[in-house]
This record gives sequence, C-alpha cells and structure tokens, in this order.
Amino acid sequence: MRKVFISISLLVLPILFYGQDLNYTKNIIEKLASTEFKGRGYVENGDKLAAEFISSEYSNIGLESFKKDYFQYFKVDVNTFPDNLLLKVNNEILEPGKDYLIDPMSSSVKGKFETHIIRKQDLLNDQKVREAIQNSINKFLVIDEREFEPDNAEEKKKLNELINFLKYSPQIQTVGTIILTNEKLTWGASTIQLTKPTFILKREKDFQIGNKVEVKVDAEFIKNYKTQNIIGYIKGQEIPDTFLVLTAHYDHLGKLGKNVYIPGANDNSSGVAMLLNLAKYFKENPPKYSIVFISLGAEELGILGAKYYTENPLFDLKSINFLVNFDLAGTGDDGIKVVNATVHENEFAKLKDLNETNDYLVAVKSRGAACNSDHCMFHEKQVPCFYIYTLGGIQAYHDIYDRYETLPLTEFEDYAKLMIDFFESF
Ligand SMILES: [Zn+2]
Repeated sequence: MRKVFISISLLVLPILFYGQDLNYTKNIIEKLASTEFKGRGYVENGDKLAAEFISSEYSNIGLESFKKDYFQYFKVDVNTFPDNLLLKVNNEILEPGKDYLIDPMSSSVKGKFETHIIRKQDLLNDQKVREAIQNSINKFLVIDEREFEPDNAEEKKKLNELINFLKYSPQIQTVGTIILTNEKLTWGASTIQLTKPTFILKREKDFQIGNKVEVKVDAEFIKNYKTQNIIGYIKGQEIPDTFLVLTAHYDHLGKLGKNVYIPGANDNSSGVAMLLNLAKYFKENPPKYSIVFISLGAEELGILGAKYYTENPLFDLKSINFLVNFDLAGTGDDGIKVVNATVHENEFAKLKDLNETNDYLVAVKSRGAACNSDHCMFHEKQVPCFYIYTLGGIQAYHDIYDRYETLPLTEFEDYAKLMIDFFESF
C-alpha cells in the first residue's frame, strides 16, 4: 500500500507543482510591476529595490552564488525625470503617459511659450522649413505628423534626420519641440541628455495655430549611477563545469515625472518570473549541467548589463552549452518567436519537436539573428543562444498600460513546461 501511495503522490506532484507555479508567477509579476518598484528605473532607487527583491527570491529558492552575494555591480549614465512634469495647452493640463511623453534625451525647461506649427509634409519644402526656423525663435516648434506618412524609406530617413536637426541642433533657436502624433505612445530610456526638450503629444483635439503652452520638465542627468546584475546558479550533478544559462532583464523605464511610472509587467517582469520558475523547478529536479540564472540590469539603456556581464563573466563564456534569453513572456496566444532560430537550426528543430510532441503552444516561430535584447551581447561573443518572446495578446509595450492586471499569461505554464523540456534535452 505504502509503495502504491508513494508512486501515486509522485504522479500527482508535478501537476500540483504547476498549479502552484502560476500563483507564484502572478505574485512575482504583480510585485515587480507595482508602484513599490517605481518602474525599476533610476528614480527613487527603483532598480535597487527590484534587485534586492530578486536576490531574496534567489536565496529563498536556494541558488548558489559565485561571489559573496548574487550582485555584480556596474555603472551607467542615465537621464531621468524625477519631478513633476507639466504640459498645459491652452489652459488644459495634459496627462503624462496618457496624452504625452517626454523624449528620454530631453533637458529641463520651465515657462510659458508661444508655438509655431509646421506640418510634416511641409518639411519636404525648403522654403517652408526656412520660414518655420525663423518663426519659431524662442518658441516651441510644433511638428504635426498626424496626417502624413512618407512615401518611401528614403523620404522617411530624410525627414527623420531633418526633424532631429530641428529638435536638437544648436543652430535652431527654438525653446523645444512638440511632435503631434497619431501613433501609440512608446517610451524609452537614454544614457545622454541633449540641450532641449521634446514632447510627443497624442491628442484627439487639434493643436491650433496660436495655441500657447506652459511647460515644466525637470531632467536630472546622473553620471556613473551604480546598478547591478543578479547572478545565481544550481550546480550540475554530472557535468558541473558546463553551463546552461537563462537570462532576463529586470530593469524597466522607471518614472515619467513624479506621479507616473511605467510598470513593465510583460517587459520584463514576466521574463524574470519565467527565470525564477525554472530556478525553482531545477532546484527540486537537479540538472545534469550547471544552470545559471542571470537577471540583467540596464537592458532598456542599451543592453548595458549584458554588455558588462559578457566583458566580465563569472565563468568562461566558452563553457556555456546554450543560453536562452527571456524578454516578454506574458502572452503566448499566438505562440512564441525564437530569435537565432536560423543560426542554431538543430536546437530550434528540437524545440519545435518538443512543442509538437507535447502539444504545448500553438506555434514556435523562427526568426534570424537580431540585436534586440540581452542575448545579442552573448551571441556576439559566440555563445550559442536563443532569444524567445511570446506572441499575441495584449499589445501594451513601454507604456503605462503594460500592467499586471491586464497581462493575460495565457500560455505561461505550457511555455514553462516547454522550456524545462528544452533545458533537460541537453
Ligand atoms: Zn524588455
């Protein structure tokens, strides 16, 4: 009886484990994407608070560290917006994040200003550009992009160069620029600060000729801000000096003024949750090779944490058998996309096979090399790697809508099972 009981409980355990998993996943994502971590940027120590939390999870799981603790420190330059933002158009105060963004490279500004508007199509006319430069001295130049799409790539490139010149050239005597756009507001982060501010404004209402603006931007440029990667591992049972590596960046865009933060639930609390889930699993199911879990910092500033790590690795990069980078793991309604699939065809075939055999995800799609997340730095150092992201579901990205509450996590459990199978296939 006893024997039977044990074998039944062994059968039941993995199912229970996955049941608990999704709760764990939800808790992690809810926490990381909450106001407590301030968007995991460089205002009010968002990055450090998140790193402390992840480090305590590593410790709870029982990961080992290569050094005295899990942290690997490095320094970044970063432009931040810690204080109140104001953009008032004709006495209407607009909402940061919802109505407008501030270009991440912007500098500070304060005051009431007149505006001069030019339509984007008129930027193709030299005479009109000259007039706009003359008429916007000591004013905000407003570039209205809303009713114009360039004909071709060449025209688009030419216009973008001209717009950057108008925004930031010292020869242009504007106070700053406002871009009127129809597009979704997508924010970013910057390691530099330029001499002027630019607002990106999305509004249903027209911005009329003669409209005045009142603005306030407090940009704080921080040189040599100390941030960190968080690195733990599980020692392999059979071949401990060969490594499988999981990476996921935990940093995000931080705060957009005093009262708004960018939560980054899908980007990339979800990837960190995947990494922690797999750490839990492999702690309970000891692996053949050593498995390393790297939560990377400063991805949004230009994959700087990964760059620092690959220049200062804690073990020989040549001993990495394979690496998978997780960045956007929270949907999966349309399957997953695998960057470097065409570079590592055998591993991709294996991943596809495992998926089909077990009927996990609707699709495992192939993509070539792309330098669009942390894996890129490892790929450039000849570390065999994939970058995998989920497809479909919510489209929120680099904005105030990338929240835990609306992240579907549709296929998270099947995705996690597929990745466990994949790592165990080495
Ligand atoms: Zn990301």
